[in-house]
Amino acid sequence: MKGFAMLRIGEVGWIEKEKPVAGPYDAIVRPLAVAPCTSDIHTVFEGAIGERHNMILGHEAVGEVVEVGSEVKDFKPGDRVVVPAITPDWRSIEVQEGYHQHSEGMLAGWKFSNVKDGVFGEYFHVNDADMNLALLPDEISLEKAAMIPDMMTTGFHGAELADIKIGSTVAVIGIGPVGLMGVAGAELCGAGRIIAVGSRPNCVEVAKSYGATDIVNYRNGDIVTQIIDLTNGKGVDSTIIAGGNPDVMESAVRMTKPGGTIANINYFGEGKILPIPRSDWGCGMAHKNIRGGLCPGGRLRMERLINIVKYNRVDPGKLVTHVYHGFENMEKALLLMKDKPKDLIKPVVILD
Ligand code: NAD
Ligand code: ZN
Repeated sequence: MKGFAMLRIGEVGWIEKEKPVAGPYDAIVRPLAVAPCTSDIHTVFEGAIGERHNMILGHEAVGEVVEVGSEVKDFKPGDRVVVPAITPDWRSIEVQEGYHQHSEGMLAGWKFSNVKDGVFGEYFHVNDADMNLALLPDEISLEKAAMIPDMMTTGFHGAELADIKIGSTVAVIGIGPVGLMGVAGAELCGAGRIIAVGSRPNCVEVAKSYGATDIVNYRNGDIVTQIIDLTNGKGVDSTIIAGGNPDVMESAVRMTKPGGTIANINYFGEGKILPIPRSDWGCGMAHKNIRGGLCPGGRLRMERLINIVKYNRVDPGKLVTHVYHGFENMEKALLLMKDKPKDLIKPVVILD
């Protein structure tokens, strides 16, 4: 079969591979829609996870089951499924601890295009199908569904980690697709005021439609000063970081109230140490919590997110600015995520 792969750091292309084989608990899935991610760009062009040779890329897919192992109970060939970016081994001590993302080791629940071939192939392998797949209802379009495996779960996780209380004030730093889902997640969690930090007009419009009450543009001055001014000198209850370099951590700590929470879902790709401003962190005593996490995966999470879309609580289709048809457009779609043209939020490739 063919797959669109990372050939080595800095280089992508098509390769031939053996079709994957399902173990007793696994499934083989044919992708129906896939989306490239900023994380794929970190992997290929920044060497974020180290060198990989001829590894099929991609971790955001919806697809059709073509084969299941002998022990799979709930799925059969022909089922249309949402496949989470994070597909843990559910039999592990870390799962018992409540951190399936780190099942079998830190970040090890992330398997696609990390420790095994990803979803940009004619077929891909899903471990523990009963625990990692979710049925896709007919009424959800493929474009919308393709935002569930990573964008929705990650952005919403930002809101979950941010410990949002009903009516509280939340800042979201970075409103690419992940941050926009952070805005939507904050709204769902009951935030009273949502301050989105971003400048691109299309993202600003989508942020407002997802519930942003205020927009802060870095072009109008230091974002911390603007947010402190907007909140009458108090700062926000929660800050979600969904973009930026390590300096954003300093801003987040400064703009968050004592007792507040800083929730990071961003990938920090540079520097040895993340800066925490000493005096703004109360010299270590401000009760400003700093949290960060990999997006939740697995079947239950996907089923819950599917409900959000099915019952029109959030329309993730607003993220999809570019739709392509056919594998031949895979490279174009991936490179969009690298070049980030102004009109882009998220591309999807439909494989009809
Ligand atoms: P993106 O590049 O499309 O969006 C990030 C946005 O942040 C951009 O619009 C950028 O202009 C903006 N930004 C950068 N610095 C900023 C600053 N100082 N202040 C305000 N805005 C700033 O990326 P994305 O696809 O939305 O992904 C966001 C991050 O989330 C990436 O680092 C990605 O790797 C990471 N990610 C994490 C997980 C997870 O599980 N935690 C999953 C998927 C993606
Ligand atoms: Zn992703």
